[in-house]
Amino acid sequence: MTIEKCFFAGFPLDPADQKRSDDGWLFKKITDPSSRFLIYVAGRPLMNVADGLMPVFKTTEEVSMITGGNWAKTDWVFIGLDGETAFFAVGLPRKPAVAAHEKFIDLRSVALQVSTQGFSDMPALLGRGKMLLEWQARRHFCSCCGHRTRADHGGYIRKCTNDACGREHFPRTDPVVIMLVTSGDKCLMGRGRDWPEGQYSALAGFMEPGETIEEATRREVWEESGIRVGAVRYLKSQPWPFPSSLMIGVQADALTSEITIDTNELQDAQWFDRTSLLNLLEGGGTENIVLPQKIAIARYLLEHWLQHG
Ligand SMILES: [Zn+2]
Repeated sequence: MTIEKCFFAGFPLDPADQKRSDDGWLFKKITDPSSRFLIYVAGRPLMNVADGLMPVFKTTEEVSMITGGNWAKTDWVFIGLDGETAFFAVGLPRKPAVAAHEKFIDLRSVALQVSTQGFSDMPALLGRGKMLLEWQARRHFCSCCGHRTRADHGGYIRKCTNDACGREHFPRTDPVVIMLVTSGDKCLMGRGRDWPEGQYSALAGFMEPGETIEEATRREVWEESGIRVGAVRYLKSQPWPFPSSLMIGVQADALTSEITIDTNELQDAQWFDRTSLLNLLEGGGTENIVLPQKIAIARYLLEHWLQHG
């Protein structure tokens, strides 16, 4: 039952940090016929929908026809190496002409269906490209002086072109605590205001500056549900490329039981008992409850608690 590894975890390539800082090496790779390119529009990767669902890897020649070969004016990042083969991700401002069996598809909606043929961790590869390209698209101008930036270090840095400023901007990752609060044989789950009917999940929220994971967990649970939390145990983390979060999965012990929800955040929160959840997971139960999807770390937290307590 347990999910061993979270979706979007397990990046399969060598990020080659030392090599990607070498512009000469990058130029050779970006023009090398053996290099491969993922294409994105608005964070959506180009997928082959003809037979299953596989990312489309374009060759240097194919991608140059799409971009006009103008790398200086195209958002691109070096993703990593598989042996000597370099992989890049290219972000386009609008959809190019593609074959009938190719489509730009939202990564969240297809993550569970993506074939892992050829790589053990295709979602992690697609997620990293999405995160870096979306960050690049938001950093074309320096947030310190307003001048244009240019990509550096294989697209992992945006450098201000104003010599008087010269600020380097780095990709951001936003930490989110996501917690399964438990009390004996019960666990706490809530549902957001616009969620599909019956959908429940672990409570979660962005960490605030200066907080520890434990403090953020206790604050979020108190704010959203009115439950006081004691011990907090870290379990697992998950990169979440929507747009660029790191989900920090914990289990937390409840000290109180009376729920008072924050109606700005939640529509409902309830204690769920172990037996009915196990029944639901095995396909039984008559309640109209939808558990977290398997691509979400909330599902792991739930299954881990059901298995191990
Ligand atoms: Zn600047």
